[in-house]
Amino acid sequence: MQFLQKSDYVWINGDFVPWEEAKIHIMTHALHYSSAVFEGIRSYDSKIFEAELHAKRLIDSAKMLEMTINYDIKQIVNFLYETIEINRLSDSYIRPLIWRGDEEMKIYSDKITTNFLIAAWPMLSNKINSVDIDISRWRKFSPDSFPTNCKASATYSMMTKIQVESLKKGFTDSLLLDVNGNIAECTCSNIFFVGCGVLYTPKTGHILNGITRQTVISIAQSLGIEVLECDINPQNLSSFDECFITGTAVEIKPIRSITYNDNKISFKEDNITGIIIKKYQELVKKK
Ligand code: PMP
Repeated sequence: MQFLQKSDYVWINGDFVPWEEAKIHIMTHALHYSSAVFEGIRSYDSKIFEAELHAKRLIDSAKMLEMTINYDIKQIVNFLYETIEINRLSDSYIRPLIWRGDEEMKIYSDKITTNFLIAAWPMLSNKINSVDIDISRWRKFSPDSFPTNCKASATYSMMTKIQVESLKKGFTDSLLLDVNGNIAECTCSNIFFVGCGVLYTPKTGHILNGITRQTVISIAQSLGIEVLECDINPQNLSSFDECFITGTAVEIKPIRSITYNDNKISFKEDNITGIIIKKYQELVKKK
């Protein structure tokens, strides 16, 4: 099987295994029931950006799904570094994943093991180009249905479907409303708006509290830009001047327009967004 990005070794349950030999059985619980949690992490110049925060979120996600892992933050951070080092990676994407194994085919059995892998492959910073998105007909699941701050594989099958719908309509991605009809987040990124020099972003509760989101909030605060985490009604989108999305993979991407109920709301491209992008790029290289 072909995989476009690859490296030499994958870390699995404490050992390095050659990439081509890193395989699972078809009866793996995670394949049938999506019982996996993961992280998306990046290294820049061989430094892993916010490694501790990602390791903590991974442990928290596992706990939220009743998966037990026997490693602490420090150990996980070491494994992440060992993985990029053995693969001689400088600028990379790192994917730790915790999943339920193949010992029995039941929704739950205490015989089913919890397993841990870390894969990593080369990835350079993205080009900064602005994109057009729409608002999906699908809503972000309710925090009463599934923990919204859990980075679980299960939630991404819906995100994939939403991306396909969005691409078919000619957009790059879709924004989801939450169960109350407020703006939540995109399929794999958080969203920010700029209005009269103030930064607005949906408050936590219905979103994944992205590590890039948290970084952007502290960058803005350090620049003296006021940040409001609040409910944002999609009817008010036209009152904002700028818009951008944030995530480990997309980094910070300006949004050119959001189409909602066949209305296209356009945003300006630069100014505060540009300042924050520049600061973020400086920061990831430093940390
Ligand atoms: N929301 C969702 C649904 C995501 O999948 C991601 C990507 N992890 C984000 C937000 C952004 O999170 P982060 O900045 O930690 O990558």
